Amino acid sequence: MIVTADGPDSPRSVEEFRLLAGAAQGIRALNQLGLPVVLVSNQPGVAKGKFPANNLDAITERMREELRAQLATLDAIYYCLHHPQAVVPEYQAICDCRKPKSGLLTQAAREMNLELTGSYMVGDQPRDMVAGKTVGCTTLLVGSDPEPASVGDADHLCSDLGAAARLIAELKTVGAARHIEGR
Ligand SMILES: [Zn+2]
Repeated sequence: MIVTADGPDSPRSVEEFRLLAGAAQGIRALNQLGLPVVLVSNQPGVAKGKFPANNLDAITERMREELRAQLATLDAIYYCLHHPQAVVPEYQAICDCRKPKSGLLTQAAREMNLELTGSYMVGDQPRDMVAGKTVGCTTLLVGSDPEPASVGDADHLCSDLGAAARLIAELKTVGAARHIEGR
C-alpha cells in the first residue's frame, strides 16, 4: 500500500494538475511488486469553496489517464473532503478521515482487505507519517530535503516516489526472508 499527495499546493483545476517526478515510475514499480497501491488524500478545496466538486472529478480523471499512459495503476483512491471551517455546509465536519487521522487508511484496509501492519505509508507531510504510524504502517517520508526539519514518525526518508518504491522492494524482500526464517 502506498499513499501520497495533498498539501498547500493542491491543484484547483485540471490545468494546474501535474504528476510529480517519479510518481508514475514509482507506482508502476509497486504495481510490478504485486502490491495494491492506494491513494489517500486530504482534499478540502471543495469544502473551502476554492473550486467546484466537478474540478476534483476532472483532476482525478486526468491523474488516472496520465498514470495509465505510463502503465501505472492506482488500485483505489480515497479522499477526505471535509474541513472543520468549511464554507460548504455538507463538508463542514471534524471527521476521522482528515490526516493526521487514520480513517482513510482503516477504510481502505477494510474495503480492500489490506493488512495495515504489513503496509507502507508514503507521503511528503508529517501528518502522513502520523496517520500511517497510528495504524502500524511502515512510514516513508518523501522529499528533496535530505535533512527535513521534522522527520516525526517517518521510519525512512526518500528523495521521491521512485526511490520510495525501490526501498519498499528491498524491505519487502528482507521481510519475506525473515518470514521464511521464522517458520
Ligand atoms: Zn474527512
